[in-house]
Formats: sequence, C-alpha cells, structure tokens
Amino acid sequence: MQNFNIEKSTLLYSESIKYISGGVNSPARAFRSVGGNPIFIKRAKGSKIYSEDGIEFIDYVCSWGPMILGHAHPRIVKTLKNIIEDGTSFGAPTDIETKLASLIVKMVPSIEKVRMVNSGTEATMSAVRLARGFTGREKIVKFCGCYHGHGDSFLIKAGSGALTLGVPDSQGITKGTASDTIVANFNDIDSVKTVIKGIENQVAAVIVEPIAGNMGVILPENGFLESLSKLTEDNGIILIFDEVITGFRVSKGGAQQLYNIMPDLTTLGKIIGGGLPVGAYGGRTEIMDYIAPDGPVYQAGTLSGNPLAMHAGYETLLALSEEGFYEKLEEKSKMLEEDISENSEKLGIKIQYNRVGSMATLFFSENRVKDFTSATNSDIEKFKNYYHLMLKMGIYLPPSRFESTFISSAHSEEDIETTVKANYEALNLLK
Ligand SMILES: *Cc1c(COP(=O)(O)O)cnc(C)c1O
Repeated sequence: MQNFNIEKSTLLYSESIKYISGGVNSPARAFRSVGGNPIFIKRAKGSKIYSEDGIEFIDYVCSWGPMILGHAHPRIVKTLKNIIEDGTSFGAPTDIETKLASLIVKMVPSIEKVRMVNSGTEATMSAVRLARGFTGREKIVKFCGCYHGHGDSFLIKAGSGALTLGVPDSQGITKGTASDTIVANFNDIDSVKTVIKGIENQVAAVIVEPIAGNMGVILPENGFLESLSKLTEDNGIILIFDEVITGFRVSKGGAQQLYNIMPDLTTLGKIIGGGLPVGAYGGRTEIMDYIAPDGPVYQAGTLSGNPLAMHAGYETLLALSEEGFYEKLEEKSKMLEEDISENSEKLGIKIQYNRVGSMATLFFSENRVKDFTSATNSDIEKFKNYYHLMLKMGIYLPPSRFESTFISSAHSEEDIETTVKANYEALNLLK
C-alpha cells in the first residue's frame, strides 16, 4: 500500500480557503459530509487520478460523471490539440455545432432539435422556461431528492451537495419562486396525482431524473415512468427527463432508450462535453421552435457551442458509439457489483448496491433503497468510515453517501479486482 500522506493537499486547502468561498468551486468537493479535507488533484490519466501529494487513486468519481472514456483519452487530447490553434470561441456558428447536434438527435430517441448551453444547470433552467412559455402555465413538479442543478426553482428538496449539507431549501430564493415548485415523492405516482389534483391546468412541467443519481442511485420502479408519461400527457403537462447523468451513461440513448419512454424535453450535460463545460436541452420540434430567435422564449449564451467543447463532445459520442462499448462497461460494472455483494455476504454486513449499467451506489442499509426517505435512513457513520478506509487504500469514491460512483471504459479488470480487495478489507474493519 502507498504511503498515505496528504500534507501537501492540506496545505493547498489552507491556501484555497483564503481566496475561494469554502476553498472549493462546488460544495460537494469540500468533504464536509465525510470529514477531513479535500485531496487536491494534479493530473489524471485513464482510470487513475494523482494527487498533489503524489498518491495514485483509482477514480470512481470520473469528474461526477463526464469522464466515461476515462481521463485524458488520447482521442480527445489529440483533437483538442489540433483545433486549439484555430481559435477557441467566435460567437458565430460553426459546423461542429451542427455535427454534434445531429449526432445527439440520432442517438437520443425523443430529441428532434437541440440547443447547446454551458452546464446542466443552464439546460434545466432553460427547459423549464421553455415548458412554461410553451404551455402558458407557471407551476412545476419535481421529486424529493432529485437534483437539477442550482437554478432557483430546483433548490427545493434537492439532492446532491444541497442534500449532503442538510440545506434542502437554500436561502436567497424568493417565496414566489418556491411556491411555483411542487414536490412529489420519487417512485410514488399517487403522490404526483395528489399534488396536482385540482391544479392540473396550472402545471407546466414535471421534471424527473429517470434514474435518480443525486440521492445515491435509485432505480425507477416498474411502471413509475410509464405512469408519469401517461399522467403528464393526459393533462397537457410537459414531461422533462433530466438526463444530465443518465444521457449516454446507461445506453447510447440514455434512460429513455433503456426504458423505452419518450419525454417531451430532455436535458443533457456531463458526458456530452467530454470533460469540457457543456449542457444541452432538446425535444420535439414543435416545442423547440418556441425558443428565440424563432419563438418567444429567450435563451442565449456567449460561449454556448464553443468549438473546444463541441469537438470534445463530438469525439466522445463517436467513441462510445463503437460496437460493444456499453456491453464492456456493463460487464465490468456487474463484476464489481457481484464481488462487492459477495464480500458483504461473507462478512455479514448488510448493504444495498443500487446499479444501472456503470452508475451505482453502495448504501449501508438493511432495507431496499427506493426513495429519498430510504436513502437518508442509510447508515451515515458506516459510510464515513468506509469512505476514509477506501481512500487510504487508493480508491477515490465520491465524498458523500448521496452520490453515484461511475465506471469508465478505462477501468481495467485489474482496477476492479484491486477495488474489490480494498472493499473486503474496509468492510471487514467496519464489522
Ligand atoms: C449534475 C447535474 C445537473 C447540473 O449540472 P451542472 O453541469 O453541474 O450545472 C443537473 N441535473 C442532474 C441530474 C445532474 O446530475
């Protein structure tokens, strides 16, 4: 085992907190929910990240999802090097935007037209504005524990960092905005029917992570998404699938392809940027033509569709379109699930390993985790200890029990075996 000395990271953190709020540019990075201070990363290659202290980790954060090809993939690096000399942003259309857009339309079943933005947050904010403009209605329904970026309308019972910090309702959001967001329970169609009863014709959109990834991974139960699709259709409500994580992650066409459901609008992010800042939203032409300059709903962006991000996204989507890509990812992910489950059975530690393809969460819980309540009932102390034990053994997991781990095409069988061994040792120490 490597010498686990994080003195340099600790020093760098003490500097960063002087100049950056909380020392980090996104709260989930701050290790607040597991204790200790964050590890500063110097570089990454393939399945590995290397800290400023010189420690090598097998990385299961994958930049919180985007790095499905692993870090510094030769194809992406080569492309970026080649094009950077031609300029990095023009504020005018480029052909690569059309190329990426047409590839997205080809891959994601429900998308006929798409608009590029710079983050998942922008994508969801814009999609909701579009849904409101299109329907002429104001309210939206979201699910408890689902995270849709940090737009005001979504920071009501949100997941991810907001959940970890225990501030489900952020300060700084007006009562008016909050009152337009209605919260229902994931995997509970009756809760949706109840909250919209009598105000069906005021609801513009229902937004959902078709596979929840921000209260840990939670699978949609049989029939939940189908019922949601029917309920929204019957009431003229726009169904938005937030596929910022699941898009290009669980299949080429995302969760909508996996479960064969056509939402009205889809939001994308993470993987479509290939590691650069990109988001997108798309859907039926009839709805998408409501956006400016064709339609009355305004949305714009100085750096939207910038050539570096578009090229990185395009090359990423081409790479994962190759024959057998998702099958290989599934094989490795399944191997990890089976071996970890075997470890826990051998050691008599009750866990729930929720997984769809290469996204998964290990919950320390005796009961099935199927919604926000069962996720928050998982054992936090066990998770904290497990987290630090794994970290010391060179396994870099997301520093919160409400996040998904990700496997990339760069993870090797050897990486998986090393991880399974570390998991055995950690679980054994937790007994
Ligand atoms: C990460 C995430 C977002 C926000 O994307 P950012 O690029 O961080 O703004 C939105 N929705 C889901 C489901 C996410 O996981």
